Amino acid sequence: MTAMNLMLMGLPGAGKGTQAERIVDEYKIPHISTGDIFRAAIKNKTPMGLKAKGFIDKGQLVPDEVTNGIVKERLSEADTKVGYLLDGFPRNMVQAQALDQIGQALERELAGVINIHVDPSSLLERLTGRFICRNCGATYHKVFNPTKVKGICDRCGGTEFFQREDDKPETVKKRLEVNIKMNTPLLDFYKQKGLLHEVNGNQAIEKVFADVKEILDQLK
Ligand SMILES: [Zn+2]
Repeated sequence: MTAMNLMLMGLPGAGKGTQAERIVDEYKIPHISTGDIFRAAIKNKTPMGLKAKGFIDKGQLVPDEVTNGIVKERLSEADTKVGYLLDGFPRNMVQAQALDQIGQALERELAGVINIHVDPSSLLERLTGRFICRNCGATYHKVFNPTKVKGICDRCGGTEFFQREDDKPETVKKRLEVNIKMNTPLLDFYKQKGLLHEVNGNQAIEKVFADVKEILDQLK
């Protein structure tokens, strides 16, 4: 049996978080998301956590070698023996190469990479549709959760709405562009290695997970 050593990719809004939850639940593997392991390493004062804290305290970016070190520390823990789901790492080719070496050194090599694919125009629609009632703070979505009566808040009857800065088309477009640029070389890299599995993320959550499961069951 191969261990479920997995990496999950997907652009913002593609539903990566939801699928990550389902995957770790179904396959009983630890969810290794970069944000979480950074916080844990710093809190537990691991050697790499202390290094990371040094950079963060100075307001500097944490260099790849420290990020890689934190991932290595985490993958050295016993619970990853049955597998793991990496989420948010690697983010660039330096980190991807490092992950190869870490995987070999720890006998935790990647068995598969899942990319939840949604075309950018649909993501734009998903991510820019949110609007908020100025009076009561109720949240709606133009497409997925509109008000019952156009222009009137279901909850308070308010008629004034606003969009958060993060949900505005210019901001979202930029965020998507940055992420596409970041992901493209990684997708190529894992495709060449024969590890990449594309899943159509433009379907109901249940259907997306069914497709993910079909792939992962074949990896077992
Ligand atoms: Zn309202």
